[in-house]
Amino acid sequence: MPCTTQRDLTPTAKQAQAAALARLEKGLGLGAIRAVVGSSGSIAFAGWQDNSGISDLCAYKALAATNSPELRRAVARAEAISGYKVKTQAIAAGHHSHDGGKTWGTH
Ligand SMILES: [Zn+2]
Repeated sequence: MPCTTQRDLTPTAKQAQAAALARLEKGLGLGAIRAVVGSSGSIAFAGWQDNSGISDLCAYKALAATNSPELRRAVARAEAISGYKVKTQAIAAGHHSHDGGKTWGTH
């Protein structure tokens, strides 16, 4: 999955990713997109359409890096609902979901 930290991105790809991240942040703020924490402590986003190919983990890292208040609130809610805490080790290990947090894997 392409990520914002990829070195060979074209300016167009970078713009598309920035727009996708902005849509995610806005969607989280509006509640149209939900953060989901898995039992491993990794994170997924449910309802994020049109993500320009950015993976959930990549998006999480990008928004966390800017200390997004929308992300923080969405994660706090997801942790409260699931009873699991986000673990940076799980995210670093690449635990991820392709279906908004229903199933998880590291492939
Ligand atoms: Zn995968």
